[in-house]
Amino acid sequence: MKYKPSFPEIREAVQKLCSRFPGEYWRELDEHQRYPREFVSELTDSGFLAVLIPEKYGGSGLGLAAATAILEEIQRSGCNGGACHAQMYTMGTLLRHGSEAQKQSYLPRIASGELRLQAFGVTEPGSGTDTTRIRTRAERRGDKYILNGQKVFISRAEHSDLMVLLARTTPREQSKKVTGGMSVFLVDIRGALGNGLTIKPIKTMMNHSSTELFFDDLEVPVENLVGEEGQGFRYILDGMNAERILIASECIGDARWFIDKASEYATDRQVFGKPIGQNQGVQFPIARAWAQTEAAALMVDKATALFEAERTCGTEANTAKLLASEASWFAGDTCVQTFGGYGFAAEYDIERKFRETRLYRVAPISTNLILSHIGTHVLKMPKSF
Ligand SMILES: Cc1cc2nc3c(=O)[nH]c(=O)nc-3n(C[C@H](O)[C@H](O)[C@H](O)COP(=O)(O)OP(=O)(O)OC[C@H]3O[C@@H](n4cnc5c(N)ncnc54)[C@H](O)[C@@H]3O)c2cc1C
Repeated sequence: MKYKPSFPEIREAVQKLCSRFPGEYWRELDEHQRYPREFVSELTDSGFLAVLIPEKYGGSGLGLAAATAILEEIQRSGCNGGACHAQMYTMGTLLRHGSEAQKQSYLPRIASGELRLQAFGVTEPGSGTDTTRIRTRAERRGDKYILNGQKVFISRAEHSDLMVLLARTTPREQSKKVTGGMSVFLVDIRGALGNGLTIKPIKTMMNHSSTELFFDDLEVPVENLVGEEGQGFRYILDGMNAERILIASECIGDARWFIDKASEYATDRQVFGKPIGQNQGVQFPIARAWAQTEAAALMVDKATALFEAERTCGTEANTAKLLASEASWFAGDTCVQTFGGYGFAAEYDIERKFRETRLYRVAPISTNLILSHIGTHVLKMPKSF
């Protein structure tokens, strides 16, 4: 039986769109750390960023498998979905836990592109991976919450109208459980700027529009609380499976891009009078990268199928992200090695993609934390923290 990729029409349409944004476009952005506004606008106008929004709120409601196909094709085409992927999974928090009034008010405008929901604020300098130690505080005063604190590495905040933000509403020491006492808010970034919110860009090794956020008595209306006060950690965890699966599909796209480039180059490039790919020292790592990528892709498919069937999929989603990020990293390293000196020359795009794909072994969750999940939840070994 011939393996057929899912959603062939969507994949073709995404490839077509991406062909209008070639390497030169991304290199220019990378050099100036500029946001791919034009690319994100086209993706939005084509409806691709709204596939997870149900039809009754203006999206296409196609589901997670379609979203993974879109992100994989973006990366496979040499583009970078990191500029907008968060809209797909962040929106899920609103969809699952928001009130009907919030959904009616925001989702259709997000689907149409009138509002961008690209920012997701969890990480803080003092908490790192241990989210239960966040210190950003939201204190209720009348019909408002007053926010004070700081977030770090919050991507795309400067290019988003809304942010899903996690803050403490009850101090950790006073919460029954350390995972309790946190709440999710929908922050209107435009209205908050200069009125209690300061955004400071962070320059990172790839163009990812990362920022630091400072909250100084920022007022957020009570109606912007998502779901119940104190349940925020659970709501964020709920969204993580989709996030892990979507990022994993981007890694699969990256890996396939690297493998295509490496195998073509290894076939064409002649050294010592023959193609370098004829040497098994060059050929085998590329073949290994392919095998690892195909195995990781199967785990992405499994996690996606479980998610779509509304079954438990935390372990599969995490494992998919682990395997796919390692596959893309290995494929990237192999591609650089195959290209020799040219792998380092910006005009080949390999060094850029190599930097971009490296992120996914750290964010949105690092490899160690996934291994810890497998070690303790699946294999029932003792926990280190
Ligand atoms: C470019 C970029 C964009 C990002 N975008 C966002 C965003 O939009 N929103 C957001 O909220 N966050 C964002 N992040 C933050 C990202 O999710 C965190 O960097 C990541 O979760 C790791 O947290 P940390 O950097 O504080 O590392 P730390 O928690 O300090 O960990 C450092 C290292 O120690 C390891 N480690 C820690 N504890 C253990 C342990 N118990 N056992 C074994 N190893 C351990 C980790 O695996 C990691 O390798 C972004 C980060 C980057 C770099």
